[in-house]
Amino acid sequence: MTERDAIAKPWGARTPFRPGEPWPDRVDIHLAGGVDPDDVQRWVRTASMLHSNGDAMDIAVVDGRIVGVRGRVEDRVNHGRLGPKDLYGWQANGSQDRLTRPLVRVDGGLVETDWDTAMDRVVTRSTQLLDERGPSSIGFYTTGQLMAEEYYTLAAIGHGAIGTNHMDGNTRLCTATAAAALKETFACDGQPGSYTDVDHADVIALFGHNMAETQTVLWMRILDRLAGPQPPRIVCVDPRDTPVAKAARDSGGVHLAPLPGTNVALMNALLHEIIANEWVDPDYLDAHTVGYAELRAQVEGCTPEWAGGICRLDPAEIRAAARVLGEAERLLSTVLQGFYQSHQASAAAVQVNNLNLVRGMLGRPGCGILQMNGQPTAQNTRECGADGDMSGFRNWANDAHVADLARHWNIDPMQIPHMAPPTHAMQMIRYCEEGSIGMLWVSGTNPAVSLPDLSRIRSIFSQDRLFLVVQDIFLSETAQLADVVLPAATWGEKTGCFTNVDRTVHLSDKAVEPPGQARPDLDIFLDYARRMDFRDRDGQPFPAWHDAESAFAAWAASTEGRPCDYTGLSHERLRAAPSGIQWPCNAEHPDGTERLYVDGRFWSAPDHCESYGRDMVTGAPLSPTEYRALNPDAKAVLKAAEYLPPHEPPGPEHPFVLITGRTIYHFHTRTKTGRAPELQAAAPRVWVECSPADAGRLGLTDGDLAEVATPRGTLHAHVRITGIRDGVLFVPFHYGYWDTPGGSAPDGGPGRAANELTATDWDPVSKQPLFKTAAASITPVEGGQR
Ligand code: SF4
Repeated sequence: MTERDAIAKPWGARTPFRPGEPWPDRVDIHLAGGVDPDDVQRWVRTASMLHSNGDAMDIAVVDGRIVGVRGRVEDRVNHGRLGPKDLYGWQANGSQDRLTRPLVRVDGGLVETDWDTAMDRVVTRSTQLLDERGPSSIGFYTTGQLMAEEYYTLAAIGHGAIGTNHMDGNTRLCTATAAAALKETFACDGQPGSYTDVDHADVIALFGHNMAETQTVLWMRILDRLAGPQPPRIVCVDPRDTPVAKAARDSGGVHLAPLPGTNVALMNALLHEIIANEWVDPDYLDAHTVGYAELRAQVEGCTPEWAGGICRLDPAEIRAAARVLGEAERLLSTVLQGFYQSHQASAAAVQVNNLNLVRGMLGRPGCGILQMNGQPTAQNTRECGADGDMSGFRNWANDAHVADLARHWNIDPMQIPHMAPPTHAMQMIRYCEEGSIGMLWVSGTNPAVSLPDLSRIRSIFSQDRLFLVVQDIFLSETAQLADVVLPAATWGEKTGCFTNVDRTVHLSDKAVEPPGQARPDLDIFLDYARRMDFRDRDGQPFPAWHDAESAFAAWAASTEGRPCDYTGLSHERLRAAPSGIQWPCNAEHPDGTERLYVDGRFWSAPDHCESYGRDMVTGAPLSPTEYRALNPDAKAVLKAAEYLPPHEPPGPEHPFVLITGRTIYHFHTRTKTGRAPELQAAAPRVWVECSPADAGRLGLTDGDLAEVATPRGTLHAHVRITGIRDGVLFVPFHYGYWDTPGGSAPDGGPGRAANELTATDWDPVSKQPLFKTAAASITPVEGGQR
């Protein structure tokens, strides 16, 4: 077991391995000062809650308190390794400012109360709205950090019992494009690949994915391949000079730094080169795909010279990258926010799918696609239907699927609203602004910092006519604006399951009691259902389950025959298994399924698919007839897309392109990582990155205070001069106001939240907001503190 300074050495020591060999074990551990492993009274099994990798770990418990964590060596995901947030993040659980009692608004302020009083307010307002204005007056906005049992319950309450169409997750900001891209190409969500593809690939291409900081343990796996015999070559597409970019150069691969918002042009040029050089797999294309002729026609004129002018790249670099991708024998592609958070997000992510398909690189070891998630349980938000998706990857536009879900819930299918797909988050906020949503229930997320255009969001949440319920573990910026605050239990304080990016399901057992009167989110949702007296067709309480185990059993039963088939899983099975298990797991695949689509057959049959797809430009849903005309039965769909310029190009007043993103030491709005001393000390304040040339031109030096402005707002941040490409600024989005005098907003002075600057705009297909293409300016602040 190794204890390390994971701030200074986030990826730890190398354990090199050769292609096809098992990844060597390395057990990482961190215990509170003065605690020896022999002092630990219980080790309780769980997985990471501060990113999407799903690192399996055990929680160390002494006298009813969490005192540390260690990696689980038996687990397929991490073989014992943990990243900085895994090792230090647990300390937030014990923070003195946890919410321990419900709060209600009285005379403009929040005061402590008991559960009956708080829930009575929620139930009274719900009942009043349902009586007077119907189900569409209530909206739910949840997260990617609860557990599968909780999302399934929320979906049943929202879509089934209340019958509202207004339900989404903050996964909309994060993984909506992953889901959309998988649905467009494979007609269904669900990652084709497996983390073990890293062990076999000879080329690993990361598109807009700074894995070194977002999935540190998966990056350790790549670093260990790079340190071993026959290392893979890396292709990196990122306007920043990240550790991934450096690895690309060092491995003999290519780093491409396109101008933000030009990914479709770049992808079309890469596809153009691959087709022109006949690096395609015609047999795979013939047998397993439709749409190749359209794709070829679309990219025919997309030469590297054409794309180079748009992306501001040297055409020779594009050609070099295409050659690495085109000559790969085992290509693993991964995608994240650099592609997902721009105006053609889905179109760009789909071209990555196309790249692997035209090369026939799917379903074999080393040949995979990981359309990544950002949050630990984002996959479950989607699978269970607590966002715009329907439980069990069913199809909203297929009446038989709606009827099937209604059968599992034992309710009338007409109770489930399905005339249109559920309202996406940005549209729900618009309905709150207009007043048609009168109650918004926010669970486990902090939209007053994470949504774009924050001054607008704060004014919407502060309206008297909006009844805002916030269920959280801290008094976040959003909770400070609420009418009722419900204190929740978190990871380590409740039992439930969650699924990582490569479909590995882990059980997380309760290790300690939650503080004060805080309760598991599942208990809160079920309590609400009972107080509202929701009933099924037989007059029995709905939902019919009563705890995490029975909720999981109901969820698993409802997935029978669906792509994400959990019927072979239960809490008991997961507790007994040495490692997490990948779905589908059923009678046919009792030990789970490593890779999807090994036989080149996809879930695209019209009666089975999760989606009929959308128009790549307008986002309009295709009709069943249009979908059938593609003739996709069991084949993947190659969807072409033309490049369209970003909506807010730089101009004289705002000459830069602003992108926002994450740092390795923080998660989301820092509500948890900001309360872990090592993580907070490693990145205590906001900064802005710019290139040496831009800094020199503007007279900025490292550490100067600068004002960054867009048409929406301004913030002050200290300058870091980095290898980011010229003309681009980067600001991390973790910094809000809960630990400033302002509390929920800037305190009269300039802001520090990146989303003061971002725009109310989204990708037409996935509806994911744009965080990567705002036009911005940067100017020195006279006399600013260094
Ligand atoms: S930090 Fe970004 S990628 Fe990670 S969960 Fe949040 S929105 Fe998603």
